[in-house]
Amino acid sequence: MKILVFNCGSSSIKFKLFQMPEEMVLAEGALERVGNDDASATLKTPHGTIETKQAIADYPHGFAIIKNLLLDPNNGALTSLSEVSACGHRVVHGGDSFGGSMPIDDELEQGIEAVFELAPLHNPPNLTGIQQARAMFGDIPQMACFDTAFHQSIPEIAFRYALPEELYNDHKIRRYGFHGMSHQFVARQAARMLGKHKYSVNLITCHLGNGSSIAAIKDGHSIDTSMGLTPLEGLVMGTRSGDLDPGIIFYLHRKGYDTNSLDTLLNKKSGLLGISGSSNDVRDLELKADAGDDKAALALDIFAYRIKKYIGAYMAVLNRVDAIVFTGGIGENGVAMRSRVLADMDQQGIIIDDTRNVVHTGEPGEIQAATSRIKVMVIPTNEELAIARDTYAMTEKQPNKLPTL
Ligand code: ADP
Repeated sequence: MKILVFNCGSSSIKFKLFQMPEEMVLAEGALERVGNDDASATLKTPHGTIETKQAIADYPHGFAIIKNLLLDPNNGALTSLSEVSACGHRVVHGGDSFGGSMPIDDELEQGIEAVFELAPLHNPPNLTGIQQARAMFGDIPQMACFDTAFHQSIPEIAFRYALPEELYNDHKIRRYGFHGMSHQFVARQAARMLGKHKYSVNLITCHLGNGSSIAAIKDGHSIDTSMGLTPLEGLVMGTRSGDLDPGIIFYLHRKGYDTNSLDTLLNKKSGLLGISGSSNDVRDLELKADAGDDKAALALDIFAYRIKKYIGAYMAVLNRVDAIVFTGGIGENGVAMRSRVLADMDQQGIIIDDTRNVVHTGEPGEIQAATSRIKVMVIPTNEELAIARDTYAMTEKQPNKLPTL
């Protein structure tokens, strides 16, 4: 069965076509700079690559282009849209209504709209993508997979902020957490690699990319995570500050920063970019630090220090930790960063093996030393595959909704 997975952002639409349950990628494409004259569209299939530069006015136009790409007689992946049996959609915010992936209907669309305020940049394009796909593919099953859903198991002690209760009741202010599809994917994969049942592992999963978050996983369920009401809280990120004293915001406000400039400062100009003054990319910063750039070195040290602090906190919360898992662009490939994060933790039972660390660059495996009490794992994430799996599982449960081909 062919399952098409969409990840729709404010100016980009990414999509991947899977053959399930074989989990084979049949096509992979992206539209960038949607809404602009200099947009681009690409599709890669085993037959070849299509790359075009063209104006893409809006989402309906974008979806018409996706249809043409997929049906391209030379390098496309389909001869008819009816070959697609189901679609899966990444949805950033599910509020506190969705504790798992959900089949899409009109009511579910309203549920996504109901939390627009909590993710104003993400949920509206996610929903537009869903509507376009429903219009394009007709009555096939479509699944919404939420970044927040895996973290709905977090208990109140960890999801409530120390704020007056009415802010929680009236404004839904609480920790939601994000990157849930990734944390869940690597947690399940880790359980498999450790030869344990998925509900009997205790893990600390570190998703380190441009956006970064860390989760404490007890018996296979998320019980705490570093991102909060929004993806700004927690770890230092490429351009986001992560945790800071909220007093800084009042202080800057009194100095003349308005809401928009504070938003831009904390989301776009802080993190690795802000500290280094030069780049949000760990690879660049490592080169600069090696060449003697002190600010780049400091940015990397602060980034690693914050992760180490969270690992310590989550070790205390979990009591027993089977493994620390690294994923995301930095977690998977950042050999030096993994060493930096876990340096000097031998008294807590964590010792990395330098050779294994290098061997598992982008490759799944264990990188702890033989004497390490806690395992350390590298597991490449695959959020699209996680969505395809959930979507496939739904079609198994609802076979009567499948088109008769
Ligand atoms: P996104 O959150 O946008 O999906 P990624 O998960 O792709 O981001 O991660 C991007 C980050 O991964 C960048 O900071 C990049 O420097 C880092 N990265 C990629 N390869 C390496 C590497 N070999 N060593 C260190 N960092 C790397």
